[in-house]
Amino acid sequence: MPRAVAGPEIERLIQLLARLPGLGPRSARRAALHLVRRRADLMEPLTGALGDALEKIVVCGACGNIDTRDPCTVCADNTRDGSMLIVVENVADLWALERAGAASGRYHVLGGTLSPLDGVGPDDLNIETLVQRAHEPAVTEVVLALNATVDGQTTAHYITDLLREAKVKITRLAHGVPIGGELDYLDEGTLSAALRSRTPF
Ligand code: ZN
Repeated sequence: MPRAVAGPEIERLIQLLARLPGLGPRSARRAALHLVRRRADLMEPLTGALGDALEKIVVCGACGNIDTRDPCTVCADNTRDGSMLIVVENVADLWALERAGAASGRYHVLGGTLSPLDGVGPDDLNIETLVQRAHEPAVTEVVLALNATVDGQTTAHYITDLLREAKVKITRLAHGVPIGGELDYLDEGTLSAALRSRTPF
């Protein structure tokens, strides 16, 4: 056990920062030191921002997104295409799709994927509200933007079965060659999926 080099308050700050994704113990020390040095222009505003966010964070009752308002900013945006419902596993995926800026539909956040091995069943996910939303007259397409993993695809099949009665087109993200990807470096699964879902040129 290395000897402490700072008081318990700073050591605790380092330990908490080290829990953030992408920060190991060394970068957590560096970040803590940076905060300590820049108390006025960084640490104080950060403390305030954390407090404000903590106080206001809510889960959107409509889509399952996390925001500081309910309905969330995405649901409250009337300029979005209400006919397209994009189903994602979590908020990080919603943010990733929004960064890509490829679609301006509405979202539905499942809060995970079905995983019998980990004991995650349909009742643990936001599936019931998805079925309700898919039956709304305005919705004509449900896009299953789920991970290309076994759990992601199991969930996609489960939802497709559930939505059979709803009058919506069900689509999923294409599987295949990434932009800038070289065929020689791709795994066989990706290559064969790309060939199966080829499109006219
Ligand atoms: Zn929402």
